[in-house]
Amino acid sequence: MGELLKGKAVADFITLDVKKGVDELIAKNIHPKLMIVRVGERQDDLSYEKSAIKRMQSCGIECEVTILPIDIRQDNFIEKLKAVNSDDKVHGILLFRPLPKQIDENVVKHIISPEKDIDCFNPANVAKIAEGDKTGFAPCTPTAAMEILKYNNIDLKGKRAVVIGRSLVVGKTMALLLLGEDATVTICHSKTIELPKVAAEADILIAAIGKARMITDDYIKEGAVVIDVGINVDTDGKLCGDVDTDKVRDKAAFITPVPSGVGSVTTAVLAKHVLKACWRSNNI
Ligand code: NDP
Repeated sequence: MGELLKGKAVADFITLDVKKGVDELIAKNIHPKLMIVRVGERQDDLSYEKSAIKRMQSCGIECEVTILPIDIRQDNFIEKLKAVNSDDKVHGILLFRPLPKQIDENVVKHIISPEKDIDCFNPANVAKIAEGDKTGFAPCTPTAAMEILKYNNIDLKGKRAVVIGRSLVVGKTMALLLLGEDATVTICHSKTIELPKVAAEADILIAAIGKARMITDDYIKEGAVVIDVGINVDTDGKLCGDVDTDKVRDKAAFITPVPSGVGSVTTAVLAKHVLKACWRSNNI
């Protein structure tokens, strides 16, 4: 039966490492700080905000939340964002998305400072990831999936990786990160023909679809590593991933559970990115 790759051990490991780096900075009187920018009171944002604040506390990183009204005008929003950009005390900015309709993300994404954009909203960071430039900040979710693979010593070099999902924030970036580690990568999506057959060729299968338990054993190669990025609520109101873990576990060698898998590592990656941004702004 496939082993469950839980996120907690990975998150704890990253947290300890980040805390060490933060303590060294504090000894030099440098205080890393995250600014969360939230528009309105979306439940998803509030629960992620709560875990992000908790994680920053564990790492010794300062954290503040700028809360903006849901009906804020675009020019006012931009003004607030520019103020955070130019605040020297802030090293990383997490901007919750989607933004309300009156704010054009295609405009705003160019305004967030690339040096503080720790969840890869600004196209400058997207370009760096595509170029394999390690000074860029990749989105926290695919980075968390990569951290799980790394922590568990899963060899990627030359391995066949299949990513199902092609959003910029998860699937496409995941594919680029795997490519950067010398995997041979295929990206699948809703128009892919014979998806189960393509997926079953994967040594490493990443599901980033948003369809509750869609991936069953037909999609799995014997001994595959399965990373389930999906977060869904099933018809019984239960949280679940894109992978039907019970059906897949007999064939897969390793599988990340949902909950307690990839999602538990993202705030640790966020903290790591704040530290990195703080190092860079202090030329360390
Ligand atoms: P999107 O809706 O932006 O993208 C979903 C992708 O899945 C699309 O590329 C789509 O294809 C593809 N897809 C949809 N249906 C099928 C299908 N039947 N067969 C094959 N491919 C399909 O979602 P996100 O990328 O933002 O998120 C993906 C999942 O990851 C969601 O469950 C989300 O909740 C979760 N998530 C988890 C996070 C975490 O911290 N663990 C953070 C962010 C997201 P096409 O492009 O052709 O439409």
